[in-house]
Amino acid sequence: MTSEQQSLIAEFSSVSAQNYNPLPVVLTKGKGVWVWDTQGNRYLDFMSAYSAVSHGHCHPKIVKALKEQADKLCVVSRAFYNDNLTAFLKKLCQISNLDRAIPMNTGAEAVETAIKAARRWGYQAKKIPPNKAEIIVAENNFHGRTTTIIGFSTDDKSRKEFGPFASGFQIVPFGDTQAIAEAITPNTCAVLLEPIQGEAGIIIPPDGWLTEVASICKQNNVLLILDEIQSGLGRTGKLFAYMHESVQPDGLILGKALGGGVLPISAFMARKDIMDVFTPGSHGSTFGGNSLAAAVGLTALNTLEVENLISNSAVMGQYLLQALQSISNSIITEVRGRGLWIGIDIDTAKISGRKLCEHLLAYGMLTKETHNRTIRFAPPLIITKKEIDWALKQFTDAIEALL
Ligand SMILES: *Cc1c(COP(=O)(O)O)cnc(C)c1O
Repeated sequence: MTSEQQSLIAEFSSVSAQNYNPLPVVLTKGKGVWVWDTQGNRYLDFMSAYSAVSHGHCHPKIVKALKEQADKLCVVSRAFYNDNLTAFLKKLCQISNLDRAIPMNTGAEAVETAIKAARRWGYQAKKIPPNKAEIIVAENNFHGRTTTIIGFSTDDKSRKEFGPFASGFQIVPFGDTQAIAEAITPNTCAVLLEPIQGEAGIIIPPDGWLTEVASICKQNNVLLILDEIQSGLGRTGKLFAYMHESVQPDGLILGKALGGGVLPISAFMARKDIMDVFTPGSHGSTFGGNSLAAAVGLTALNTLEVENLISNSAVMGQYLLQALQSISNSIITEVRGRGLWIGIDIDTAKISGRKLCEHLLAYGMLTKETHNRTIRFAPPLIITKKEIDWALKQFTDAIEALL
């Protein structure tokens, strides 16, 4: 790092909250799978902002849609209709095979929206006694940062000294069908899950688990709500991660890549009878569904299809996974993944996740550890075989240099 970058970082720290611990690199430009620092060094982005940049940096079609809409109409609030939100919502309903969509901005807001919908549906459709609705969630979940959501997190770092928390959540082990069946009571309105747990370290549940969960939910008149904020929109090589099994969720939460890498855009989709619990004044968002977001969100969804990003994720993901699994190096203890979403577990007695990510930086690879032992490889879905080969060479050289 140069002294210029050092002083940029020191100055940043002097005015910023310390809720992140960034790698020592100051980025200034991005294009496709690449980003550049202030010194002109180029890096391959293997993080894609936790899937928010699945389309790659500054995707020309998405930036064009942003600019064109920005010159026309940006925000009018939901107090009035705008002329382009319908097309976006229609597309969301069509791809999710659900009847209604409600647009929000951040992922956490869409999760909160799903929780509200599920609870009210429980009171109205299941006649759950007032304030007794329960939602079943999984251990090691990540659904966002609001006080309600962290209240049902099992990660002490996210929760510590932020209480008191909302009640009404039952936590069961991830991937355990029996535990869900046993946790259901007459007051259960929903099961809320990530089909593959992202922040927990790209944890893939046993085959058939989600299908069984869906059938348990159905038998008990409990909603199955899937948080595909990180796993959705092609990341796992299918449009949605639940499509690796034959299930249809009752509610679906999207965010991150929905914003095409340029805006925070999220949404909750559900069956009509669930979404109908929202009446005027019962829920809202000043920026949710604004014209600029509608234009960008629709373009982001169309671009996935037009550019075959989902099948590219499946093919390139399989190629990258196999190549990584064939590397023999004692630092790597396990490689798992689906599509372009790969977790590499490392032997932390040899090197910490943090140190490895700092080391990879010097080899032009940007990624971030999760829980210190897992390195995430999640490049933009536009990545080519040539770029993957480059990354594999850099990664192999980098870890060999450590031995
Ligand atoms: C990132 C994420 C969220 C929260 O999204 P924000 O936009 O950061 O609020 C929720 N659920 C999952 C699965 C996520 O990966």
